[in-house]
Amino acid sequence: MRAEAETAPCPLERASGRVKIRGLSEQERLHLAAFFEPALLERVRLRRLPRPLAAVAGITLRSTVFLSRRWLEGQHLPLLFHELVHVVQYQRLGLWRFLWRYLRGWAAGGFRYRAIPLERHAYELQGRYLAGRGRGFRVAAEVEARLPDY
Ligand SMILES: [Zn+2]
Repeated sequence: MRAEAETAPCPLERASGRVKIRGLSEQERLHLAAFFEPALLERVRLRRLPRPLAAVAGITLRSTVFLSRRWLEGQHLPLLFHELVHVVQYQRLGLWRFLWRYLRGWAAGGFRYRAIPLERHAYELQGRYLAGRGRGFRVAAEVEARLPDY
């Protein structure tokens, strides 16, 4: 019975005819627990990006992370980490304030994606995550400290 559980199929499940959606796997949750609150890891849902957006790696809307197929099925942890930083930002700012600040930052930075303060911070924390090789820190506290800059 145990062996059967260990070889259970990928937690991808068919939610409708074409859209696939899943929660985080046990392995993803264990890995990310050093950075994110358990309730957030429990709530997050991963979905496959719609085909017209295939060139995009990932998009987050509230606690749903849309990933392109190659990321969903491959080495996606750094990207997932980055998108979960956005989930924390959404959580702290609320949907409309997040979107407003995102657009405002985009316009203020000459419509350059990398100049958006919410993105800059997500990339900064992603860099720290990669450099730390698993050494944990609390993303929620980092986001809280940076709120005035968003
Ligand atoms: Zn981002």
